[in-house]
Amino acid sequence: VDRSDALAPFLADPRDAAVLVDFDGTLAAIVDDPATARPLPGVVEALRALAARYALVGVVSGRPLAFLEAHLPEEVALSGLYGIEWRRDGDRGEHPAAAGWRPVVADVVARARAELPGEVEVEAKGTSLTLHVRRHPELTGAAHAWADGAAGAVGLHVRPAKRSVELHPPVAVDKGTVVEGLVGPLGTACFIGDDVGDLPAFDALDRLAARGCRTLRVVVQSPEITPQVLARADVVVPGPDGTLALLRELLGGGKQP
Ligand SMILES: [Mg+2]
Repeated sequence: VDRSDALAPFLADPRDAAVLVDFDGTLAAIVDDPATARPLPGVVEALRALAARYALVGVVSGRPLAFLEAHLPEEVALSGLYGIEWRRDGDRGEHPAAAGWRPVVADVVARARAELPGEVEVEAKGTSLTLHVRRHPELTGAAHAWADGAAGAVGLHVRPAKRSVELHPPVAVDKGTVVEGLVGPLGTACFIGDDVGDLPAFDALDRLAARGCRTLRVVVQSPEITPQVLARADVVVPGPDGTLALLRELLGGGKQP
């Protein structure tokens, strides 16, 4: 897809368009310690400017809402933990079925810290948890096997992600349900993502397209990109820098700084 053709419907009628983006690997460079990931310089300003112009600008992430809120502007709709937590127009919410899983998740977190090798970083996220193997990819198989066993025993669901595995409550939300909910009746929507966790968001765009929405799937290239994700791209951008350049193009006036 030609990039300027792809962006034309957004620039023509931003008041009828949604711009939705993933966080890690998309707005922020992937770093060894996930706690230190930050939006690239310029991203916050670009999102703020887009939010003033577009019907909706949203960040849809597996991160906890509290992390997203600490690093992203007030004007942007936020969806955390793959849709379990959100903030929109200043209101915060959590999926009602998720809260009851906190004690179960806390138990699994304790077991993970006791049973897994110390090199696997266990991130407790309240109603979900993540096992990070970024610094020790050789432990990927062990982390996935442990996650499958632990999740199966208590009824959590497992989701693979980039150099990590997530354990979630069995609540029927993912980036796809989030994208459909956020876009609603708007006539144009894009999602920018880099990872297998973003596939449901791209699927949601396809469902929206079938209802007549003009959609754009943007994939952020990286050395770790999977062919499955790349295959979904209408447009490919080269890393989070490329995301920022595209966001600036969505502000109009071509490739300005
Ligand atoms: Mg990502």
